[in-house]
Amino acid sequence: MKILVTGGAGFIGSNLVSKLVKNRENQIIVLDNLSTGAEKNIQEFQDNDNFQFFKYDITDYSVIDFIKKLNVDEIYNLACPASPKYYLNHPIETWESSVLGIRNLLESIKGTKIKMIHSSTSEVYGDALEYPQTEKYWGNVNPIGVRACYDEGKRAAESLIYDYIRQYNVDVRVIRIFNTYGPKMNPLDGRIISNFIMQALNNDDITIYGTGEQTRSFCFVDDTIDFMVKLMNSNNRNDSPINVGNPYELTVNYVAKYIKEKIGSSSQIFYLNAMSDDPVKRKPNIDKAKSYIDWTPCVSFENGIKLTIEYFRNNK
Ligand code: UDP
Repeated sequence: MKILVTGGAGFIGSNLVSKLVKNRENQIIVLDNLSTGAEKNIQEFQDNDNFQFFKYDITDYSVIDFIKKLNVDEIYNLACPASPKYYLNHPIETWESSVLGIRNLLESIKGTKIKMIHSSTSEVYGDALEYPQTEKYWGNVNPIGVRACYDEGKRAAESLIYDYIRQYNVDVRVIRIFNTYGPKMNPLDGRIISNFIMQALNNDDITIYGTGEQTRSFCFVDDTIDFMVKLMNSNNRNDSPINVGNPYELTVNYVAKYIKEKIGSSSQIFYLNAMSDDPVKRKPNIDKAKSYIDWTPCVSFENGIKLTIEYFRNNK
């Protein structure tokens, strides 16, 4: 199998590559513009003869011909900044990577049998009024707010994908990824798990935005990857998006206290202003994923956090 991973130097992308390169019959090609991904994440594969990396931006129109010439069988699209800290500072680039990026990828697979998994996000549900969030929920997104570059960018990408499916019958499987964490997260990306672990390891203040009573549900990256590969290998063509996540829901306050305690840190918990449009309650309904490809997340929060702390300790 010749497999292209766009955004393969990022957190989820590089974990996926790690699984895919192990099969020597696979040939893995990574495209990444290294805006939020890092070459360090794919360094360990550079000597494998079944791995190639190209620094390339999928928003560049020339990528269409570039991908066509690669003659791949499968594409996993993970090319998009995903941390609020980053996309709030780079909104235009974020919107472009979602919308122009997917337009180029769709053009490159039009008229072929290439299978593509596109990573969308729980952010398409916005500050959800339905709980837990099922795939049928249309969302509650502020279309002109500071998060819109990401939320609306991902929603526009989904709409374009289903237009290409209806018009050109391309095989694209859309997954909506809920909060995922694990090794190879960027320690500076400002997300809850990476921030709290780094702050606790350094005995710095642990920063909680708002009351800390907002919730997230955390999925360990191995479970997310497992789902993606199973979905790619399934013969079922995807008729609509599928949630992938772990419904294990926690408050931000709990996560802060848990990580501080596990690390044995002397950090103080420090409350700051809430982020604009920060979703209040997020929990996926994963019935569709379970029934569609017989998948269920199996790494507990406790084990996942332990592995993630170890990674950050060793790579500090
Ligand atoms: N958060 C926080 N302190 C931090 C980082 C994040 O309180 O240092 C909160 C953030 O406001 C949100 C939740 O943790 O309510 C998850 O944020 P994250 O940036 O990880 O991703 P999101 O789920 O918002 O995309």
